[in-house]
Amino acid sequence: MVVVMAAEAGETEVDGVVGRVRAAGGDAFVSRGMSRTIVGLVGDVDHLDTLNLRGMPGVSDVVRISAPYKLVSREHHRERSVIRVAGVPIGPDTLTVIAGPCAVETAEQTLASALMARAAGASLLRGGAYKPRSSPYAFQGLGETGLKILAEVRQATGLPVVTEVVDPADVDLVASYADMLQVGTRNMQNFPLLQAVGGVGKPVMLKRGMNATIEEWLMAAEYIAQRGNLDIVLCERGIRTFEKATRNTLDISAVPVAQRLSHLPVIVDPSHSGGRRDLVLPLSRAAIAVGADGIIVDVHPQPESALCDGPQALVESDLRELASVAAHLSPLVGRTLTPAPAIPREPAVAGARPAGRADPAQTTPMFHRCCDSDTNVPSMPLERGRWRSRRDGWCRWGSLRRARTRFVRHDGF
Ligand code: PEP
Ligand code: MN
Repeated sequence: MVVVMAAEAGETEVDGVVGRVRAAGGDAFVSRGMSRTIVGLVGDVDHLDTLNLRGMPGVSDVVRISAPYKLVSREHHRERSVIRVAGVPIGPDTLTVIAGPCAVETAEQTLASALMARAAGASLLRGGAYKPRSSPYAFQGLGETGLKILAEVRQATGLPVVTEVVDPADVDLVASYADMLQVGTRNMQNFPLLQAVGGVGKPVMLKRGMNATIEEWLMAAEYIAQRGNLDIVLCERGIRTFEKATRNTLDISAVPVAQRLSHLPVIVDPSHSGGRRDLVLPLSRAAIAVGADGIIVDVHPQPESALCDGPQALVESDLRELASVAAHLSPLVGRTLTPAPAIPREPAVAGARPAGRADPAQTTPMFHRCCDSDTNVPSMPLERGRWRSRRDGWCRWGSLRRARTRFVRHDGF
């Protein structure tokens, strides 16, 4: 910490500063320049911060040299951290792709998006059940119903779930369904929310506030860490600038800067920063090239009817390119593309089921995989999924054409 004395400050003022610091157990070294005197302080910076040196006579400024955040700093932990989300790593040796719909709208849309995400190389599924919308008239999310859909889609596809929480009162509920909690840009400085996610024992993705400096972002992470949760992934999602051509300006330099200051992984959201589909792939390439530990992208089976952020959602024709970008660029930057977890085995269902048909007695899970072949692996949804109602009303079924696996959804949810 350095105290910059005012140009007109004399010996008495300098001695006053030195005396107060020494009385508090620190030490002070005076260096006299041509026009100003500077006092370098040594000691517990947090304690020295409480001495109100800025208010003393003759003091012009007090500058902290060491970072105000501790637990998330590189000084505290020299090695870069790997955070595991239900076993899926996010860190310096891997490139982790998170994909899914902006918002959970229906079970079918979420399942179709999850299959698109897997096809695009994703190992984690994103999707908002609680949406922090700028307009109170916009779709606010399905709440707990959305969380249940996410849990069912995880069971069907094997992708662990990342979902946003906006209210400290909902943290326990969201954590009971999610594998990772997301704190969005609008809540980066919602300190009670940060403290609540810090106490819940699930990894947290902390998006950078659109008006926040990198230091404020890291201080927000410190709030979470200070409650005992160091499983934090930072997400650069664009900041507000004078530029109107994009929704926000992706601050690509924030990635290496934050990685240098903090041991936490840093990922990039090219969807919410650009706000435009045509920018998602170029910004993804930039993010991977600059050294991001992952990317998080929006996908949607029918963006034209999406309830949230349709214009930025990738569609099926983009998936092959995203998969190729992720697979080809990762080794060039010394990383391995994080593979998607295995698809869970379906719970045994009593009684034989004909292929393509669900058991009417079975009400859970929401989806059955009714395999036409013996394989349990949903293949890439190369064409849009079709969902139809059965006439007898007890279930609907949808098939992704060319997919080897059919998903059957039970009604009554
Ligand atoms: C989101 O990821 O769904 C979202 C709302 O993002 P952000 O907080 O970055 O706007
Ligand atoms: Mn969104």
